[in-house]
Amino acid sequence: MISEGAAGLPPRARMAAAAARLVGAAARRAGRNGSVIGGRVATMLDRRMLARLAAGRTVVLVTGTNGKTTTTSMIARVLGGPGQGVATNHLGANMPDGITTALLDALSPTRGSGAVPVAVMEVDESYLGQVAAATDPHVIVLLNFSRDQLDRVGEVRTVARRVGQAVAAHPAARVVAFADDVLCAGAGMAAQSTLWVSSPTRWTGDAGVCPRCDGAVTRAGVQWACSSCGLARPDGDWTLVEDTDPATVTAPDGSTTALDLALPGHANRLNAVFALAVGAELGVAPAVAAARLRGLDQVGGRYRTVTRPGGSTRLLLAKNPAGWAQVLDLLEEGPARPVVVAVNSREADGRDVSWLWDVEFERLAGHRLIAAGERAADLSVRLAYAGVPHRLADDAVAATRDTLGEVDLIGNYTAFHDAARALT
Ligand SMILES: [Zn+2]
Repeated sequence: MISEGAAGLPPRARMAAAAARLVGAAARRAGRNGSVIGGRVATMLDRRMLARLAAGRTVVLVTGTNGKTTTTSMIARVLGGPGQGVATNHLGANMPDGITTALLDALSPTRGSGAVPVAVMEVDESYLGQVAAATDPHVIVLLNFSRDQLDRVGEVRTVARRVGQAVAAHPAARVVAFADDVLCAGAGMAAQSTLWVSSPTRWTGDAGVCPRCDGAVTRAGVQWACSSCGLARPDGDWTLVEDTDPATVTAPDGSTTALDLALPGHANRLNAVFALAVGAELGVAPAVAAARLRGLDQVGGRYRTVTRPGGSTRLLLAKNPAGWAQVLDLLEEGPARPVVVAVNSREADGRDVSWLWDVEFERLAGHRLIAAGERAADLSVRLAYAGVPHRLADDAVAATRDTLGEVDLIGNYTAFHDAARALT
């Protein structure tokens, strides 16, 4: 049966969409998550599938190293509001097949009625050019660029340069980019029209080199400038103000909106600024957007708190040094709970765990600490050099169950997902 939403597609694409749905349903019945297979099959049958599915929708693409999934979820919530259909790749499948699958799902009569007019998609930074070419986005969000899985993504400066080329190729798109991150700002400046998000607090990015001329970048607080060509941090249009309680967001017209998020930490407050900026760009007032964000208390299991006999476990994801810096900031906002850290190095994590040496684990001194995961031994060596006392455990989830009170379990990609499944 062809759904109402697929009716606008040409016959071959309708056939491809129907085949993709059958394969996706079979994969889900077989216990696979089915988040990419439908899109892969549909694209094999019709190479223009992604472009056809995106046609006529208002498309928002979100890319960057950290915060893609959370920010995408926030923007989808802001644009849809409770109960409203917005197509989004909520399973975090952020390469072209996953995005195609999410748009196919939005056609399905079992998941909302007909074609959904708005699509908010997180995109792996290496695929932004390809996905933007197919979807003709209205808004492109650039969050940050830092080192992540070097053996997969390639050198971060090259990635940021390609993102700059991708936004330059779409002059009609409004780009919303982070001004405080040198590489992100360099990419955002390649766009015709950029709204800048900034934050008054410290950013510990990787880049000490100008993205335009390779000169040295000097910093004074959050400000940065190239000493050779004069490239400098753009002024923020949307600014996060954190010396109020709750934190507030200042809009380009000078108005302020209180952020009272259930999600913890500076990084999430910054993600929320992006969501307010995109919402305003597409007609949602900041106060309405902030109210819609208040109810968001977990994103695909991230920040979820699971109660158990004798206490509770909060799940956190940190998969690279910049992500860890955000989690360490978050931990410092509350009392020093026991922490279980789980590190794996499967393909999805990146095989190389040398990034552990770029994480400031010294900041965990004062927490009761347990090292777990398949690379617990490497983690333990790093913690020993950091001078942080810890013990080793075979099983991260079992270790949280053995610990009384509120515990944080912090995992990199597969360690986090294993724990989330075990705790469900
Ligand atoms: Zn320069």
